[in-house]
Amino acid sequence: MTSNTHLFIDGRWQEGVTTIENRNPSDLDDLIGNYAQAGADQLDQALAAARRAQPAWWAAGIQKRHDVLMAIGTEMMARAEEIGQIIAREEGKPAAEGKGEVYRAGQFFTYYAAEALRNHGDLAESVRPGVEIDVRREPVGVVAIISPWNFPVATPAWKIAPALAFGNAVVWKPANLTPASAVALSEIIARQDIPAGVFNMILGSGREVGQRLVENRSVDAISFTGSVPVGRGIAAAAVANMTKVQMEMGSKNPMLIMDDADLDLAVAHAAGAAFGGTGQKCTAASRLIVHEAVHDAFVERLVKAAQAFKVGHALEEGTQIGPVVSEGQLVQNLDYIAKGRAEGAELLCGGDRLERPTTGLFMAPAVFARTRNDMAINREEMFAPITCVIKTGSYAEALSIANDSEFGLTAGIMTRSLSRASHFRANMRAGCVMVNLPTAGTDYHVPFGGRGASSFGPREQGSYAAEFYTTVKTAYVAAGEPQ
Ligand code: NDP
Repeated sequence: MTSNTHLFIDGRWQEGVTTIENRNPSDLDDLIGNYAQAGADQLDQALAAARRAQPAWWAAGIQKRHDVLMAIGTEMMARAEEIGQIIAREEGKPAAEGKGEVYRAGQFFTYYAAEALRNHGDLAESVRPGVEIDVRREPVGVVAIISPWNFPVATPAWKIAPALAFGNAVVWKPANLTPASAVALSEIIARQDIPAGVFNMILGSGREVGQRLVENRSVDAISFTGSVPVGRGIAAAAVANMTKVQMEMGSKNPMLIMDDADLDLAVAHAAGAAFGGTGQKCTAASRLIVHEAVHDAFVERLVKAAQAFKVGHALEEGTQIGPVVSEGQLVQNLDYIAKGRAEGAELLCGGDRLERPTTGLFMAPAVFARTRNDMAINREEMFAPITCVIKTGSYAEALSIANDSEFGLTAGIMTRSLSRASHFRANMRAGCVMVNLPTAGTDYHVPFGGRGASSFGPREQGSYAAEFYTTVKTAYVAAGEPQ
């Protein structure tokens, strides 16, 4: 592979038509490399190859698909540390989190290796005597996958693994901010004994290559994770072409801290979920709705916890919070700090750019208090190490505030009351509800997704992913009389 040979198309590594720089957000002087950008023709080649290859992959059968996915997952788990370092260097999460992400990505592959074996259908009696009915799941065909930078290996893994498990061909466009992680994952897949064209990876900007991909009529299904505005555009393109679509987008996850909560646990969970991954998680706790009886004590401890985090170079031992992913994201974060203050919120700590020995995009974790749910900092996804405290007088009010959002991805409650926990679980409008747990942190074998503007289309992950990555065929067979 030459320095510009990063696109995997039709079973071959190819150069792009241009390149982009990939720099380490912990140290902007560290140039990771120049990464290829695909031209329009290369995207078309990838789509044509995927179309050609898909029937052979489906015909290869479940044992073959199981074995390939198992091999990919096993290698990823074995190389979690090494690939985790790549993630840490280009995305900026601490190396231990990078390692955990790669291991989890491997688990998605091994889980879907087994799911490939479980493609069971249904048998039904017909209302017409002599007719037999069976219902089977078949692949949708060519799946376009568009993924973001914040989980540059795990997110594509939970899309690519089920796509391949159920016999589809894939054209994957990763985020341009994390091309090295995309190449690392693609190298493992590319080494497998699979028909050329079953898996393709094309780097390029979302606005050009991504847009062209989602508008292409030869795509049968699109799975996207990213921002709401881009998601809206993708949904419109998908509807215009009658393409199946699944999207996971923004969030504004609430966490209720009730007067009967274990306060130490509440602070630990809130701080971890708000600031882990530099707050750049769709499951981050961004609205902390705190009962007035424990408000002051909670806020005091939360500020101490925020200030105690070690912010620094992602590859440095002991770093708990790495840099913000890009200059653009850092500017946006600082704008939100200014916006929050202008709206009348009280900044209790953080929110400023930090100097470290290397020139990186470091930001001190920020806590806003005295916020109202109608402020922009409580309405818009910030994707930043910023969390907002909203004081409340009762559980009922807290629940109503929590539900007052266009989003509904994850939501948590800290309480010792079983009845409150049960009520919350039943009445919180969110895709994932956490009781005495952080809003971030989910398992890989159960569905993940949200409501409202957080998600669109069928759920991802677990056995529920079959809904998106397969299409159902109902067969009617008249058995007739034996001759
Ligand atoms: P985007 O939604 O722009 O990017 C996500 C993916 O979509 C990337 O691969 C991107 O490519 C691609 N893309 C961008 N534009 C198009 C398009 N027109 N058609 C097809 N694909 C496209 O998110 P950003 O990375 O710009 O982040 C902006 C904000 O989005 C964040 O601040 C955060 O609020 C939110 N976000 C939420 C995520 C979540 O998990 N909920 C994940 C990431 C972002 P490329 O990056 O190469 O341009």
